[in-house]
Amino acid sequence: MHEFSLAQSLVEQVTELVVREGATKVTRIEVSIGAMSGVMKDPFEFCFPEAARGTRMEGCILIVHEVPLTVTCLECGAETSSEIFDIRCGLCKCQNVKITGGKDFLLNSVEVD
Ligand SMILES: [Zn+2]
Repeated sequence: MHEFSLAQSLVEQVTELVVREGATKVTRIEVSIGAMSGVMKDPFEFCFPEAARGTRMEGCILIVHEVPLTVTCLECGAETSSEIFDIRCGLCKCQNVKITGGKDFLLNSVEVD
């Protein structure tokens, strides 16, 4: 399962970070899941506690922000959000756009004890 391995690598990455900081326990993390990142929010939230079990992240609060796909139109200059399966400008409806947001899976913040 894609989301599970992602949750596992997130746990590894954050654990490494908190070990380096000398913290013993992670209390809360925030991540952003872009509409086009290929990650699904629900399976990720479902997999995370399992991936965190037995680590310094066990029992921590997970906050997931869903980031919509945003595009900048190269024709009219508008910045709009777009459907992921039909990428086009929300204003003039052309497809000559540049994706400006919603592509990434990001770790926003980590709170430790
Ligand atoms: Zn446009």
